[in-house]
Amino acid sequence: MYRYDIVKLEIIFIINTLQLYTIILLYSDIFCYLFSMTTNNPSPLLFSIKRYALHDGPNIRTTVFFKGCPLSCFWCHNPEGINPKAEVIFVKDKCIGCRECLHGCPESALTVDDTGIHRDFSRCTTCLECVEICPSLAHEAVGYQSGINEVMAEIEKDRLFYEQSGGGVTFSGGEPLMQPQALLELLKRCGERGIHRAVDTTGFAPTAILLDIAKHVDLFLYDIKVMDAELHKRYTGVDNTLILKNLKVLSESGAKIQIRVPLLAGINDSDHNIRLTADFICNLKGIQGVDLLPYHHFASHKYLKLGGEYRGEQYHTPDSQCLARVTHIFKDFGLQVRLGA
Ligand code: SF4
Ligand code: SF4
Repeated sequence: MYRYDIVKLEIIFIINTLQLYTIILLYSDIFCYLFSMTTNNPSPLLFSIKRYALHDGPNIRTTVFFKGCPLSCFWCHNPEGINPKAEVIFVKDKCIGCRECLHGCPESALTVDDTGIHRDFSRCTTCLECVEICPSLAHEAVGYQSGINEVMAEIEKDRLFYEQSGGGVTFSGGEPLMQPQALLELLKRCGERGIHRAVDTTGFAPTAILLDIAKHVDLFLYDIKVMDAELHKRYTGVDNTLILKNLKVLSESGAKIQIRVPLLAGINDSDHNIRLTADFICNLKGIQGVDLLPYHHFASHKYLKLGGEYRGEQYHTPDSQCLARVTHIFKDFGLQVRLGA
C-alpha cells in the first residue's frame, strides 16, 4: 500500500510538472509571438494618423495610431486598432448597389440582401480585392503598412504648431510597443528633430523593450484600468501584474508619466478601486498627474462595421457626481487630476 502511494505521488508530480512546463511554453510562445511579430519589420502597420489632436498629450499634437493590441477591453474606443492585421469594413452609405464586389471576391465571402452587402468574416482572407474593385469606395481597408520616411513627413507638416503650442507627436494605438523596432526608429528621428515625443501605452509589454523605448520618450501616457487582477483579466483579457510591475520599473527609470484612467460606472469607479489606484501611483516617481477618461458609446458603430460584437451597451457614462467623487479621492492623495484630457 505504502509503495503504491509513493508511485501514485510520483506520477502526480510528473503530470503536474509536465502541465506547468506546457503552460510556461504556451504563454511564452504567445508573448513572443505578440511582441516579435513585427520586430523584423521596420515599417509600422498603422490604422490612422491624426493631426491637430488635442486629447493625446500636452497641447497640439500629431497622433500616430499603431495597429495591434495585446488587450481587448470591451470599452475600447479604437477597436480597429486591436487586430494586428489589416482588415476591411463596409460603409453602407457609400454603396451604389453595382454588385461588382460580389463577382470579384475570390472567396465568395460577400452576399447581398435588402439591407446591403454582408461579409462572411470566416471566409474573408483580407485580400483587399473588394477595396480595389468598388467604384464608390464602400469597402475600406483598415490598416496600412507605412514607411518610416512617410510617417516622418506627416509628422513634420505640423512642426510650426508644435513649436508654438508646446505640443509634439504621440504614438498610440492599439499598442505601439507591439512594434518596437519601428517605434524606436520614429522616436529617434523625432528626437533628432527636437519634436516632443509621447507614447500612449497599456504597459503590457516586455519590461526590457519598455525600458529601451523609454530612453527616447519625453512623456508616457500610461493606462491603469482596474487594480484587481481578476477583474482586469475579465474586462481586458489579461491580468495586470506585468502592467503594474512595468509602471514601477518605468517610474524608477526616471520617466515622466501621465496616468490615464478610463472611468466606467460600475466597473472601476468604486471608492475602493480608486483608493487602491491612487495609493499605488502616489508613491511612484515621475507622475505628472491623472487624466480621467469618462466612458462613452461613440465607438459602438465601429464594432459592427468590423464584424464584431459591441459589449459596452450595458455600461454607462459616469455622471457628474461620480466624476466629482473620483476626482476628490485622487486629490486627497495629492495627485493632480484633469478630466477628459
Ligand atoms: S462594388 Fe461597391 S458599390 Fe458595388 S455593390 Fe459592392 S460595395 Fe456596393
Ligand atoms: S477582402 Fe477579399 S476575401 Fe474579403 S470580402 Fe473582400 S474580396 Fe472577399
